[in-house]
Amino acid sequence: MAVQQNKVSKSRRNNRRAHDSLVAENPNECPNCGELKRPHHVCAACGHYADREVVTMSDDIDLEDDAA
Ligand SMILES: [Zn+2]
Repeated sequence: MAVQQNKVSKSRRNNRRAHDSLVAENPNECPNCGELKRPHHVCAACGHYADREVVTMSDDIDLEDDAA
């Protein structure tokens, strides 16, 4: 196991963490359904990408069904 040789001061620790903050996403509006979506990603709401449907959305998902 690596053991640190010197105590990291609060200042040095906090300076290191100064760049750790998360950056907010920049969502686009889906041209098909108007929902906000991640840029360059398939729309999670309607499955469209670049004006065509690439993922078929099923509206009846039955999670209770136990197919044993
Ligand atoms: Zn959409």
